[in-house]
Amino acid sequence: MSIDCLFCKIIAGEIPAKMFYEDDLLIAFADIDPQAPHHFLIVPRKHICTALDLTPEDNELIGHVYQVAGKIARDLGIDEDGFRVVNNCNEAGGQTVWHIHFHFLAGRNLTWPPG
Ligand code: 5GP
Ligand code: ZN
Repeated sequence: MSIDCLFCKIIAGEIPAKMFYEDDLLIAFADIDPQAPHHFLIVPRKHICTALDLTPEDNELIGHVYQVAGKIARDLGIDEDGFRVVNNCNEAGGQTVWHIHFHFLAGRNLTWPPG
């Protein structure tokens, strides 16, 4: 845990969040400022600042992120419609919270390219 990290505090239960899924490796909760009808943040429990800080020992963890994204989509019944999983890395990539996370977005027709 990183003392000043917002998502570490959510993982520790010190800051409330609308939890959707939890397991040993990660949690998924509703984004406070949803950009789609379904907008969850899939957040590894391990404090990793950005995608650039991933190491080979995290490969299984990142694979698991996509397994859980698929489970969320199936549980919501929107797997056939489609969804988006996105990681923002560093400032120009749109990252604002420095604990790696993956946005799960669904429930509307998502345009491309993103803004
Ligand atoms: P980023 O910009 O780093 O890719 O994504 C950070 C996300 O965290 C944003 O979509 C933002 O709305 C969300 N967020 C920021 N603070 C909180 C919070 O206190 N609770 C929840 N649930 N989401 C938050
Ligand atoms: Zn953290």
